[in-house]
Amino acid sequence: MRQEKIYRAELTACFGDPVDENPTGVIEEAGYEALGLNYRYLTVRVEKDHLPDAVRGARAMGFRGFNLTIPHKVAVIPLLDELTEAARLIGAVNTVISKNGKLIGENTDGKGFLTSLRENGIDPSGKTVTLLGAGGAARAVSIELALAGARHINIINRSEARGSELAASVSKKTKATAAYIPWIRQICIPEETDIVVQCTNIGLFPDVTGKPDVDYDSLRPGMVAADVVFNRPETQFLQEAARRGLKTITGLGMLVNQAALNFSLWTGADAPVKVMTEALAKEFGLNP
Ligand code: NDP
Repeated sequence: MRQEKIYRAELTACFGDPVDENPTGVIEEAGYEALGLNYRYLTVRVEKDHLPDAVRGARAMGFRGFNLTIPHKVAVIPLLDELTEAARLIGAVNTVISKNGKLIGENTDGKGFLTSLRENGIDPSGKTVTLLGAGGAARAVSIELALAGARHINIINRSEARGSELAASVSKKTKATAAYIPWIRQICIPEETDIVVQCTNIGLFPDVTGKPDVDYDSLRPGMVAADVVFNRPETQFLQEAARRGLKTITGLGMLVNQAALNFSLWTGADAPVKVMTEALAKEFGLNP
């Protein structure tokens, strides 16, 4: 007897603008294929003013969930039914999950970073962390590090308003202490720093020669240097750190791990992280 076959696909997506060069679809679809799931991941350009229609459309079409990237991570919040604790504390949503007819906003960027850190043998508990940047990625990373027990977080940022607002927000919402440090030229990384995280866009393709304005001799071999930029992963910042003997962590681990978390939230299955990592490495022509 002919087995009943289901042709209908479960839909997931990324809504953003610009979004053309976002590689998350490659990672998610490799995972879907590995587990034989009839899921699709669509990378969709949604202009700023069209977000409410896109979210309404996703609801109407029964999407399992979707990611948000620039410029939608904050604008999506009033369009959702609920937020997770992390999304509420961070004040931004990168992942939406559809559950029992409700759209729930979550933020997996910081959790992806944390997993990547732990995969590299680093536990942030009790540590002093210094962040360069105070945008969306820095918000997610700083809040998750603080929730994971980091003791103190320095925020070095170009615009004072964003930097001091993030430091105040971390101090108020978590048990960690936090301080804003104005980004003067050739800024020194405070010597008590255990982990320094580059969270600005500097070094992002095509600006691959871009390098944060830091006194690189203030980086000490006992520190760990991480970058959230994943394209190209070996940023100038990480190269300078490696030259001074620091352990370095690229943004690829954060990217794969946030994709793996999304995968599990949408499918209910454990993500095949190895397959997903290999797919990303292949896409970027790297050794996994
Ligand atoms: P935002 O636009 O929200 O924030 C950008 C930050 O970079 C701001 O703090 C801004 O400072 C700072 N900045 C930009 N240019 C400069 C400069 N020339 N000098 C000093 N500071 C600068 O961006 P996001 O936080 O969303 O993204 C930042 C990076 O994180 C991107 O490269 C993105 O690809 C990456 N990312 C990686 C992820 C991963 O999975 N690996 C996940 C999410 C993001 P100011 O406030 O002064 O403007």
